[in-house]
Amino acid sequence: MAVTNTCSKCGAATLRHSRWRTKDGLLRSLFFSAVRCQACQYRQYRFSPWATTLTVAVVLLIAFFVGVIYTVSGQLP
Ligand SMILES: [Zn+2]
Repeated sequence: MAVTNTCSKCGAATLRHSRWRTKDGLLRSLFFSAVRCQACQYRQYRFSPWATTLTVAVVLLIAFFVGVIYTVSGQLP
């Protein structure tokens, strides 16, 4: 899947990463990265595939440890 690097408003390929803002929220900052078009100053979000991969990895890791704890606690006398 190709990541589009053009502005969704004017189509210019002049996007730069924007500073993270509190109002963006935690979830949005996890899954998206804020970018600003240098041509029209329009602020938009780009999907971050690595962030999703990281989140999935963390969830799987937690699920793994929960499973281990569950198994170990089930074997206790
Ligand atoms: Zn633009």
